[in-house]
Amino acid sequence: METRKSIVIVGGVAGGASCAARVRRLDESAEVTIFDRGPFVSFANCGLPYFVGDVIQDEKKLLVASPELFRNRFNIDVRTHHEVVSVNCQSQEIEVRNLKPGLSESKSYDALLLSPGAAPIRPPLPGINLPEVFVLRTIPDSRRIREWIDTKQAKRAVVVGGGFIGLEMAENLAHRGLEITIIEAADQLMPPLDPEMAEFVRQRVVAHKARLQLGDPVAGFEETAEGLKVTTKSGMEFSADFAILAIGVKPETNLAKSAGLEIGSKGGIRVDESMRTSDPHIWAVGDAVEVRDFVTGEWSFLPLAGPASRQGRIAADTICGRDSKFRGSQATAVCGCFGLTIAMTGATEKSLRRAGITDFSAIYLHPGHHAGYYPGAKPIHLKVVYGNSDGRVLGAQGVGEEGVERRIDVISMAIQKHATVFDLEECELCYAPQYGSAKDPVNIAGMIASNVMRGDVSLASWAELPSTDALIVDVREPAEHQSGCIEGAVNLPLNQLRDRLGELPREREIWVHCGVGQRSYYALRLLRKHGFNVRNLPGGYQTFRAWYPRGL
Ligand code: FAD
Repeated sequence: METRKSIVIVGGVAGGASCAARVRRLDESAEVTIFDRGPFVSFANCGLPYFVGDVIQDEKKLLVASPELFRNRFNIDVRTHHEVVSVNCQSQEIEVRNLKPGLSESKSYDALLLSPGAAPIRPPLPGINLPEVFVLRTIPDSRRIREWIDTKQAKRAVVVGGGFIGLEMAENLAHRGLEITIIEAADQLMPPLDPEMAEFVRQRVVAHKARLQLGDPVAGFEETAEGLKVTTKSGMEFSADFAILAIGVKPETNLAKSAGLEIGSKGGIRVDESMRTSDPHIWAVGDAVEVRDFVTGEWSFLPLAGPASRQGRIAADTICGRDSKFRGSQATAVCGCFGLTIAMTGATEKSLRRAGITDFSAIYLHPGHHAGYYPGAKPIHLKVVYGNSDGRVLGAQGVGEEGVERRIDVISMAIQKHATVFDLEECELCYAPQYGSAKDPVNIAGMIASNVMRGDVSLASWAELPSTDALIVDVREPAEHQSGCIEGAVNLPLNQLRDRLGELPREREIWVHCGVGQRSYYALRLLRKHGFNVRNLPGGYQTFRAWYPRGL
């Protein structure tokens, strides 16, 4: 009699649940068992901030699939409240503890998938274990925060960490009417972004009256008569009714270590392209693993739901004998905060430099999300980085109120197909006035960068602005110049430029700028044709304000 292949899965959420369902579609006879130590499987952890914020009001909406559905539809055995405590690679057995009666059992496997996720980081700070210091990872976590807000009638919250989850929590707690303070160790919000792009986020958060403490790590928590006192390293003190810790996650690797599996340089389980670990019978996926960064090729830790579920499918394929490979992660991500959409894909200037890559350029643009003549156009602040030698698109970051994620998604696909800025210039995208422009922001980004690649434009460097000897020429109208300008810039409006060429030096480099970069491009072409040595400050005055919010 043929024995059924035993496939055991640890963790039944994004990676584990995807793998289990895919295995069943490929193999009708396998015995598939999911163990999860929590009370739920297949729940929407990405929806938790919105549940805390009461945007999602019914907890049941967070449950994507139940154990019953897995059993009835897929013939998959789901055991919640079961913690897998160790793995024995030699005997191909796991030890499982049933957390309800507290009994242990062992279970053998032919293939084992580890998808235990990542745990919120809780540094050993004074007061870190106080009941009013919360983390958010599970449905029970979100229930506890909701209950605290309701029973204590909380009015003030400190959010520690200004990254994706911190900003989502800030927005959702503000939605419930709480006063928010965000404390962030880095000098900027949303640390994965380049700092000048994060400046748009800072401005929005401040405009929404959230208090912000940047560049100042939290040092401890203390219960006082006024509530929770949160102290920072610089000695600042903030009073609140509770705090949310959102300072990142670390891969759950205890089981992998118990099995003697290889752990990578980023602290995640090391896997190959088919998500197989250093043991041929064990696969690992999701937040617990480290993966190759698609652009830089570096090992990286990118805890996101999309890659986790795709990796689950790939592991299922290879467990079932198919040849599937994970391409690496591009870190494509999006976050909403106070009406702003923040999205990114691929490399940033920061991540390229970290990886030792310097042969790239960055362009900026601030187009409307749809045609300017149609009411309601909102600016999208975009930064695109690309390779100097081949024009290959390496990454993009976008911030704005509307249409941001659509542009970043298009560029994400371009990156995955190794496309160049010339491809962005040519790509054909949807257009009607209420949706976009005949020249979509993605096309415009491609055109700007292609102009540079073809030698029609030279870019000046925002980083070198404070030390340059170049003459800075503002080609905006005088009223625009007077309402705010770069210190030391001379104002020579584009429309007067041809008649006033004699005022410009021929022996000195000229850096032109306007509001967003378009008029200065025209000025650059004009000046070049008249023999001037000229560069364009990409993205104009709007980019200057993001680079130097307090001036030069
Ligand atoms: P998880 O989904 O964390 O599942 C791991 C499961 O394994 C858990 O249920 C855990 O109980 C179980 N487990 C762990 N150890 C054991 C053990 N020893 N025995 C049995 N069971 C075990 N990503 C995005 O892309 N977009 C978002 O908007 C987004 N928002 C998020 C918001 C929040 C609040 C959080 C917490 C995460 C968010 N993420 C988001 C990240 C995303 O949820 C994760 O990347 C994804 O869930 C990872 O899937 P996973 O299967 O690796 O782990």
